[in-house]
Amino acid sequence: MDLKHIRNFSIIAHIDHGKSTLADRIIQECGSVTERELKSQMMDTMDIEQERGITIKAQSVRLDYVKDGEHYVLNLIDTPGHVDFSYEVSKSLASSDGALLIVDAAQGVEAQTIANVYLALDNNLELLPVINKIDLPAAEPERVAEEIESSIGIDATDALMVSAKTGVGIRELVDAIVDRIPAPVGDPVAPTKAIIYDSWFDPYLGALALVRVFDGSIRKKQIVKLMSNNEQHEVLDLMYPHPLKKMKTDSIGSGEIGIVVLGLKDVGTLNVGDTITDAKNPTAEPVGDYEPAKPFVFAGLYPIDTDKFEDLRDALDKLRLNDSSLSYEPETSIALGFGFRVGFLGMLHMEVVKERLEREFDLDLIATAPSVVYDVYLTDGSTQEVHNPSELPPVNHIERIEEPYVKATVITPTEYLGNIMNLLVAKRGLQEKMDYLNEERVLLEYSVPMNEIVVDFYDKLKSISKGYASFDYEPTDFREGDLVKLDVRVAGDVVDALSVIVPREQAEQRGRALVKSMKELIPRQLFEVAVQASVGNKVIARETVKSMGKNVTAKCYGGDITRKRKLLEKQKAGKKRMKAIGKVQLPQEAFMSVLKMD
Ligand code: GDP
Ligand code: MG
Repeated sequence: MDLKHIRNFSIIAHIDHGKSTLADRIIQECGSVTERELKSQMMDTMDIEQERGITIKAQSVRLDYVKDGEHYVLNLIDTPGHVDFSYEVSKSLASSDGALLIVDAAQGVEAQTIANVYLALDNNLELLPVINKIDLPAAEPERVAEEIESSIGIDATDALMVSAKTGVGIRELVDAIVDRIPAPVGDPVAPTKAIIYDSWFDPYLGALALVRVFDGSIRKKQIVKLMSNNEQHEVLDLMYPHPLKKMKTDSIGSGEIGIVVLGLKDVGTLNVGDTITDAKNPTAEPVGDYEPAKPFVFAGLYPIDTDKFEDLRDALDKLRLNDSSLSYEPETSIALGFGFRVGFLGMLHMEVVKERLEREFDLDLIATAPSVVYDVYLTDGSTQEVHNPSELPPVNHIERIEEPYVKATVITPTEYLGNIMNLLVAKRGLQEKMDYLNEERVLLEYSVPMNEIVVDFYDKLKSISKGYASFDYEPTDFREGDLVKLDVRVAGDVVDALSVIVPREQAEQRGRALVKSMKELIPRQLFEVAVQASVGNKVIARETVKSMGKNVTAKCYGGDITRKRKLLEKQKAGKKRMKAIGKVQLPQEAFMSVLKMD
C-alpha cells in the first residue's frame, strides 16, 4: 500500500472528555460499521468476542475512507490513557504520526490533557485540537480554544468544533485527519522493523502483538526475531484490527498497523516497546529504547483465609498472562502469614489488580499500605532498593535514603487555589509553576515526594475542590529525604505489616494518630494490651486497650436482649476477618487504618 494513503493517529484526552464516543463516531463515519452494529458493539461485547474469536482489549482499528476520489486507510491507534500506563501510552504515540487532542467544550483543559500533550510532543506528533461536546448548553468553545493556546502553546484557531453525541463536525474532522496528519515515512524494501505497542492474551490464539511496521513488512510464515531477548518465532497469522470482523491478511506493510499471531502461550516475552525484525536479515537499530515495565508502587497482598495462599498464586499467574507489567514474589509477614509482595505501575494499577483478584478469582485480600521504592545508601558503600518498609536496614547502617519524586500537575478553579496550595505544602510539595489559564482557572506544577501522593492525595484534592480540580503526575527523580521507619507494637510485638517509612518531622504526629486509631479498632481482650508507636527503640506514642471480662455482653447493663444478640453476632462475624499478633486478635480494619491516616 502506498504510504501517501495511510494516516496513523491516536486520540488523547482527559477522562470523560469523549474519547471513546468520538472514536465510535469516526468508525461510523468511515462506514466500517452501521449505527445498529455500533450499538450492539457497545452493549454486547461478549457476543462480539465470540464472533470474531479474539479478545477485545486494544481498541485500535483500521478504517477505509474515500476523499476526493482517493482511497485512504486510517489507523486509529488507541492509548491506555492513564499515567500509570504512560510507558504504554508513549509506545502507542510512537506508533502514530499525529494525534487528535480532545478537549471538552464545557470543562476545558484538564491535568491529563496536559500530561498527554507532553508525551505527544516528545514523540514529535502533529497535534490536531478538537473541541468536543459543543452541543452542551454550558459549552464555551472560544474560551476553551484560548485555554489550549495559553496552557499548551499550540495554535487553536483551526481547532475542530464537534459533537461526538450529535455527529456535528465529524465529517470535517475526518477530512482534517487526511489533510493535516502527515503520512507515515518508511522504507518498504528495507529489513523488517516494527514496534510492539500492545499485547494481550487470547484464549484461542495465544499471545497477540499489536504492531506498527516502520520498514519492510511482516509476512505470514516469516521467521521473526524479538530484539530485546533474541527469541525467534514463526508468524502463524496476521490480521488488521477491526471492531467487528476478523480481517486476515498475508502481510502487513511499511506504515501499517496489524496484529501478529506467534502461537505463544503467554504474553511474558511479547513486551510493549520491543522491536520485531527478520531473523535472517535483521534491521540495524531497534525502533526506540526498550525498557521493561518498572513498578513504582509496592504492596503486600495476603489472603484473609490463610489456606488460600496457593489460590492467590494461581490467580496472580493467570493475571500475568495478560499483564506483563505485573510483578510479584512470595513474602511472609509475622502478622499476616504467607502472601506476595506485588509491584504496580501506580495506584490505579494497584486498585485494578486488587479488584480483579477479588472479583474474578473470588479471593478476600488484605493489602498493606502501598510503599514507593527507596534507594538506601549504606555506610559500607553499598546500596539497597527497599520495597517493603519492614526491610529497611537498622539506622546505624544507613548513610542516607533517597525517595522518588513526581511532577504533579493540578488544574483548578481559582476559588480553591488557597486550599490546594496548603495541601501541596502539607505534602512536602515544592512549587515549580503557576499559570493562570484565564481569570477563572489556574495550572499548578509541583515537585512532590511520590510517597505523599500514593495514599490519599487524590481523594483529598477532590474533596477540597468539590470535585473540580484535576490531577496528574509523572515520576521524575530521586532526592534525599530525612526519613525514618515508624513501627507499631501490639503487646510488645512489632506488627511488621504496619511499618511505614515517614519523614522524621511527621513521625511523632503520625505515631500518635496511629496508636489512637489502633486502640479504637482492637477489641478488648482478656488482658491489658499496650499499643505503641516507635522509631528504632524509642517509643514515641502509647495507648492502652483495657482488659475486659469473658462476657462481651457485660457492658450491656440491663436487659436489652436484641442489643446483646447483635453484639454477639457482630463479634462472630468479626472473627472471620481477624489476624493474630502474638496472642492478640487484630481486625482487618486495624491494618487498613494505616492507609487512611492524615
Ligand atoms: P472518555 O472517557 O474520554 O472515553 O469519554 P466517553 O466517550 O466515555 O464520554 C464521557 C461522557 O461524555 C459520556 O457520558 C458520553 O456520552 C458523553 N459525551 C461524549 N461526547 C459528547 C458530546 O459531544 N456531547 C455530549 N453532550 N456528551 C458527550
Ligand atoms: Mg473511554
